[in-house]
Amino acid sequence: VKAIEMLRTPEEALEEVIAAAEPLRPARLPLARAFGRALAEDVAADIDLPPFDKALMDGYAVRSSDLAGADRRLRIGETVTAGRMPSRPIGPREAAVITTGAPLPPEADCVVMHERTRTEGGGVLIDQDDVRPGQNRLVRGREMRAGEIVVSRGARLTAARIGLLASVGRAEVSVVPCPTVAVVPTGDELVAIDRVPGPGQIRNSNSVMLQACAAEAGAIAETLPIAPDEPGPLRATLEQGLSRDLLLITGGVSAGHLDLVPDALESLGVTRVFHKVRLKPGKPLWFGLGPSRPGRPRTLVFGLPGNPVSSLVCFLLFVKPALARLAGLPLPGSGGVEARLGRGFTQRGDRPTYFPARIIDEAAGDRPSPALTVETLDWAGSADLRSVAAADGFAIFPAGDREFRQGEIVRFLPVR
Ligand code: AMP
Ligand code: MG
Repeated sequence: VKAIEMLRTPEEALEEVIAAAEPLRPARLPLARAFGRALAEDVAADIDLPPFDKALMDGYAVRSSDLAGADRRLRIGETVTAGRMPSRPIGPREAAVITTGAPLPPEADCVVMHERTRTEGGGVLIDQDDVRPGQNRLVRGREMRAGEIVVSRGARLTAARIGLLASVGRAEVSVVPCPTVAVVPTGDELVAIDRVPGPGQIRNSNSVMLQACAAEAGAIAETLPIAPDEPGPLRATLEQGLSRDLLLITGGVSAGHLDLVPDALESLGVTRVFHKVRLKPGKPLWFGLGPSRPGRPRTLVFGLPGNPVSSLVCFLLFVKPALARLAGLPLPGSGGVEARLGRGFTQRGDRPTYFPARIIDEAAGDRPSPALTVETLDWAGSADLRSVAAADGFAIFPAGDREFRQGEIVRFLPVR
């Protein structure tokens, strides 16, 4: 009987990653560059918004009490356009011509839209018979009062929040900056993707894939040159990568005699937190912390397995949450959602398995939950990226030998 290795579970490994990661130090950025970042301060309104009682329609500003009876005719007074102030209150049985966004004159309590009026003999006839106070008027301070917090610390800056911050005059904001990532591919067999591989060689598909993963997670990633399986050059490239907030290495962390990454990292003062996780694919994962850096947290260092699917799964489960922590953003859920198996599956081994699967049915409604039905794909293992590219996510099967029947419920981690 094979002895069961006492490896960390993915949950334990994630906990260690999260505990090691801390948000980057806030920086002031022009608002136009703050999209997607976490706000690092509470922002209060500097003025009431709207700053005056504001017309919401083109039409006539009136006193609703003038229109309570049968007489629908009003005198036309001054014209108030957006950007100008009325010069005087409106008088009894008077209407001011007004445009959307203009301040209502004092005494006017509502706006009758242009379409419900007719001009006649120098006056205006109001066709609308249910004119009520407040119609088509946005009262001063209705949106916000000066001094109120309108966006709180920690909020992710969406397009609407960027607009809101602009409307309270915040041309610059304090945010948690974008984490910087270096990707270091390792392996003597790797060639650039624009080359035809020679005998025994393969294209470096991991770098661009992980760069895309990092971009999707809101980080700025840069790929360093391919490092060969030689201690000297490998060490030099890794050292360069340690200047970033997060270093993503692929390959060289398994048990082969050319898996030189752990030793190279430790020789650079990177402290190992863990090596290997009870996970399939992704078992060889290495995680550590770089030397201390002035004014910045220690670099988070991930040695991802070289096989493309292993590195992708490790990114989803561990690197993505780490980037969210660095960026001060809420952690993405990595436990997946419930899904029904559209066909049976045989699970073998002592590691939880993330198996590429596609959604075959997402009809909700009268059927019992979950609404999602998924089907595992024909997958050749951790080197087979093609099935993963066709997948909608990964079906998660717990460790242990077991037959899963069609219709059974499992967890499913979507990737789209
Ligand atoms: P390693 O973890 O270095 O033992 O690599 C495991 C497998 O992943 C080997 O078959 C490598 O050729 C492959 N591999 C390593 N790095 C990459 C990469 N950057 N792109 C594609 N495949 C890779
Ligand atoms: Mg290798």
